[in-house]
Amino acid sequence: YGEFNQKIDYVFKIVLIGDSAVGKSQLLARFARHEFSLDSKATIGVEFQTRTLAIDKKTVKAQIWDTAGQERYRAVTSAYYRGAVGAMLVYDMTKRPSFDHVARWLEELRGHADKNIVIMLIGNKSDLGTLRAVPTEDAKEFAERENLFFMETSALEATNVETSFQNILTEIYRIVS
Ligand code: GDP
Ligand code: MG
Repeated sequence: YGEFNQKIDYVFKIVLIGDSAVGKSQLLARFARHEFSLDSKATIGVEFQTRTLAIDKKTVKAQIWDTAGQERYRAVTSAYYRGAVGAMLVYDMTKRPSFDHVARWLEELRGHADKNIVIMLIGNKSDLGTLRAVPTEDAKEFAERENLFFMETSALEATNVETSFQNILTEIYRIVS
């Protein structure tokens, strides 16, 4: 029972956004291919990756888009956001500026995406906990205020990666089903 000849009930487009080097591409590699690389090159070429999984006995194909190195302010085009039903807004918990920029990403997202888009704030690199620059409480408060789901992850250790994608997909499923 592989991904072939499978009836797909839903295709959900999810976009990854956030500053450069926060781990977006590695979170995607971990979720879509069960891989991780410490010397990941700045993303080149590939627009999205997919993974098919079961949610509430339905077959859901997650189509996850990666920024392909367009993280400069306002460089991500509206085509990137078009049709997205979910967004993972990622910061690096060891880099305060990447968290300070989250508000700007959110503004960008809300300007381009569908108003019902499900957004999850992700504090990545929890394996580097000793270097933490963003307290969990700060992020949690921000997420509550802005109506975002929130999770801390490690693409390196595969902590919460599966869970965060599962959660956002389940929320999206609840909205569309
Ligand atoms: P992107 O620019 O947001 O796509 O970031 P990348 O996925 O390319 O990751 C940037 C750097 O951070 C790479 O050297 C990754 O190996 C590293 N990285 C990504 N996720 C993690 C993580 O969870 N823990 C640690 N320690 N390093 C990570
Ligand atoms: Mg990348």
